[in-house]
Amino acid sequence: MSPRLSAAGLGRLSLTRQVALLSLIPIIALGVILARVLHSQIDARVRADATETARLIATLGIEPRLDAADLTRGLAPAQIAALDRQLATRAVIGDLARIKIWNTADTVIYSEDHTLIGRRLQPSDDLEAALAGRPEEAKVVEGHANSETAGEVGLGKLVEVYVPLRFSAKGAPAGAFEVYLSYRPIAAAVMRDKRTIALLVAIGLALLWAIVFRIVARASRRLRRQSQENLRLARYDSLTQLPNRMMVLEHVARAMRRARANDGSIAVLVLDLDRFGEANNTLGSAIGDQILQEVAERLRGSLGDGTLLARLGADEYGVLCGRAQCAQDAQAMAVRAQDSLLEPITVAGTSVNVEVSIGMAVLEPDDTAEAILQRADTALARAAASARRIHLYDPARDSVDARQLILLGEVRGAIEREEFVLHYQPKIDLSSRRMTGVEALVRWAHPERGLLAPARFVPLIEQTALVGPLTLYVIEHALRQMVRWRRVGVNVQMAVNLSARNLLDRELPARIGGLLSAHGVSAEMLTVEVTESAAMADPSRAVAVLEAIRAMGVRVSVDDFGTGNASIEYLAALPAHELKIDRSFITGVLDDPRLEAIVRATVDLARNLDLTVVAEGIESAEVLEHVAALGCDEAQGYCISRPCDPDDLQRLLSEAFGVGAEKARSSRRGSRSIAATVVSG
Ligand code: C2E
Ligand code: MG
Ligand code: MG
Repeated sequence: MSPRLSAAGLGRLSLTRQVALLSLIPIIALGVILARVLHSQIDARVRADATETARLIATLGIEPRLDAADLTRGLAPAQIAALDRQLATRAVIGDLARIKIWNTADTVIYSEDHTLIGRRLQPSDDLEAALAGRPEEAKVVEGHANSETAGEVGLGKLVEVYVPLRFSAKGAPAGAFEVYLSYRPIAAAVMRDKRTIALLVAIGLALLWAIVFRIVARASRRLRRQSQENLRLARYDSLTQLPNRMMVLEHVARAMRRARANDGSIAVLVLDLDRFGEANNTLGSAIGDQILQEVAERLRGSLGDGTLLARLGADEYGVLCGRAQCAQDAQAMAVRAQDSLLEPITVAGTSVNVEVSIGMAVLEPDDTAEAILQRADTALARAAASARRIHLYDPARDSVDARQLILLGEVRGAIEREEFVLHYQPKIDLSSRRMTGVEALVRWAHPERGLLAPARFVPLIEQTALVGPLTLYVIEHALRQMVRWRRVGVNVQMAVNLSARNLLDRELPARIGGLLSAHGVSAEMLTVEVTESAAMADPSRAVAVLEAIRAMGVRVSVDDFGTGNASIEYLAALPAHELKIDRSFITGVLDDPRLEAIVRATVDLARNLDLTVVAEGIESAEVLEHVAALGCDEAQGYCISRPCDPDDLQRLLSEAFGVGAEKARSSRRGSRSIAATVVSG
């Protein structure tokens, strides 16, 4: 097995098994080293024992019976017999194989094998060392012919020990005593010892390994639990314990693959609680949290098998229906979800009515999880603006192309970087011909695409919740500009445009109030313009929001009047101060008697409803005079001034108000009428 293969094989094992296997290697190595050390220690002990035995025999059994002269001379038969007897007892050792007593002339003067007595043999180094008084350690040997061990051939393995024989305390040894012990019983004892020790070492190491394994296994279990918890936290919402957006995307992608394989379909619902922020602010976030949990509970109960409920954001939930057959299935599910929230939610003794808007999308060819969720989100914007609060994404009506989606993705950052800029278009009073105010019109100073007109991005943003932040941005910047102009003595009415979705936001009046007081601008100086059709999207809500705005003192204007299909009855119910006749009726008013009739009728209607009439889109002095003659109160249009940036406008304002920059003052032509200035210029 190549190292890479074995590493790959190891990689497939669990962490615990890997550690178990890898820890075996040092443990086995440790076992081998221990065995070696023990072996050499046992061996050393055997030699030391043998040496000690030989020394005892020499000192106790031999030296008292002989003297130096005996060794030089050789032994008498009686001495030999006495030694035979002495050594025959073998009380000291039972495995004595051979004994020799040497003199310094390398001659055997005694052996229990009498045939060796008197023989002079080739001395070994060991014998010479012993005769020189420096005996070496015991050695394991085997008998060899032509050596001093020739007499031991056939006795097997032996432990050989030399002991110098001394007969006086000082002086060189007079001879040497040599003992051969049979190695077989020693080897057997050594083996027994080794086996016992090896067993003990093995048991000890096995125990050690088991302990290490247990520690590792426990640590690995803890790690696994921790990583599972991390995974859970990354994929679940901690408040409701529902899957989060990331997990829902994975499930949608999987459900899509399954649906395609089985020729089925799936549906995705995005649910958004209406006015949840309001409840959260007034009741506190602890109660807000409980509401969100209860909503999650109810939605879970209302959805059948094969669905996955998730929390996508603050008060936004998502539902994946993996078994939807058609749009009707999704509709039915949306209705069930709405019904589950009909009953008010009671938290800490307070009953809260929760309403929900639901956007839906069903599987399309070449769909992706992100795309279907995005479509459901787009549908949600429409749902929020509709009376039923449920909308199924309709590719023919709701589609946005990829370029637009990219642009949409950039809006939040653009707001933060203040890429949106405001241009201002003046409005004049037709009787005095003096400027009465300006309308703030947003443009996007896009870093790559240049200055974008509102038609390029406002309708797109209006389909999403981003229109809320954008509107507040515009109001904030318009108020800042008013404060700047006020510093140079110019006080103008400011009009800002609201979108249909803004009128569903019951928090908008309070936010506008907050901005007005933050900038110290009085409410009467601000006008909000809403189109007829925006106000028609959800009439009762729109009227409630506009009434709250009007109650603060802010003026309300109905923009692009005539292009929507509001009934006169509804119009009368709108808390408006002003009607702006759409420019499509004004531009051609001189040439088309029908348009003239419409303008005349609108002026009549406005008079009866006590509303001011503004004519939009005045492109020539003739039209200006004509709409004045028809009874319009105010006018706005290119012939008075195109929308321009604040600096350019300040020049015009200085003309009109007779204040401001020196430059502007020096170019004044004496008239205080901006209309006269611009029209004649
Ligand atoms: P609007 O509120 O009706 O604004 C008037 C539009 O008519 C402006 O276009 C203005 O430049 C244009 N206009 C004014 N006088 C004439 C004229 O004599 N002839 C012609 N042909 N056009 C004239 P603009 O600035 O492109 O804005 C278009 C629309 O975008 C606005 O219509 C408004 O509905 C929307 N919009 C602009 N700013 C905002 C904003 O801040 N928020 C929202 N929600 N919508 C905005
Ligand atoms: Mg407008
Ligand atoms: Mg308009």
